[in-house]
Amino acid sequence: MTTLAAKSPFELRVGLGNLPEQSVREALASGEMGFLHSYTTGSTVDGPGVRVVAWTTGCQWRCRYCHNPDTWTVTNGIPVSVAQAADELRKYRAGLKAMSGGFTLSGGEPLMQHRFAVKLLGAAKGMGIHTTIETNGFWGSRLTDDDLESIALVMLGLKSWDPARHKDLTGQEIGPTLDFARRLAARKRPIWIRFVLVPGLTDDPEDMAGSARFAASLGNVERVEVLPFHQMGRFKWERLGLTYTLESVEPPTSEAIDKAVAVWRSAGLDAS
Ligand code: SF4
Repeated sequence: MTTLAAKSPFELRVGLGNLPEQSVREALASGEMGFLHSYTTGSTVDGPGVRVVAWTTGCQWRCRYCHNPDTWTVTNGIPVSVAQAADELRKYRAGLKAMSGGFTLSGGEPLMQHRFAVKLLGAAKGMGIHTTIETNGFWGSRLTDDDLESIALVMLGLKSWDPARHKDLTGQEIGPTLDFARRLAARKRPIWIRFVLVPGLTDDPEDMAGSARFAASLGNVERVEVLPFHQMGRFKWERLGLTYTLESVEPPTSEAIDKAVAVWRSAGLDAS
């Protein structure tokens, strides 16, 4: 039997939901139950300090470099109630506090299950646990201003500044993500930007500079993380029968990563 605890999010998981469609709809509408791909403990790369990370299923984007395409379908996840997830989280409360860490809800795209996300993040906050959400921001408008108060940090994926390139890379428009970033700025909610560096796709200096200027103009971006593209998710595309277009793309060299970081830094941002 598949358990929720995963050694890594690179485990392929499909068809675990096993619920009638009506039950899935009801779960999403109430938010009392959500669908999780997995969770891990002890992460040091998904927000400040040491973190428990839960990966939700469901994403409406189709990023060509996505390393977790098995999270795209909501019902690939395991149904979990807010109460169950909160109980599990409670076990780590003292340790997370001691390690200046917290809880991160990632995906997939967590705001595909925004009601569940809000309830779970609210429960974590209620336990005194620092909360982070990792999102593409497309459904940021689903969150009320009160909901935003339950989220101590938003890790926002910026994929490309050029609208046509963004559409080609993700299948979706960039506008809603930028609107969400502006709204977070207006409400002085902190953002960390995550940017995946893909040679030949996202490494155009002008394009990166556009994103960097936008991020710097917001005034609430505390940090930028340049993440090198890798091929670790490729096998999932193949196993799921999806067309993968980046077979011949190599991970960026350390020199290319340094150059990309320099572009973000030259806009005055704390990038690494
Ligand atoms: S937004 Fe994230 S989960 Fe969704 S397709 Fe893109 S990389 Fe994958």
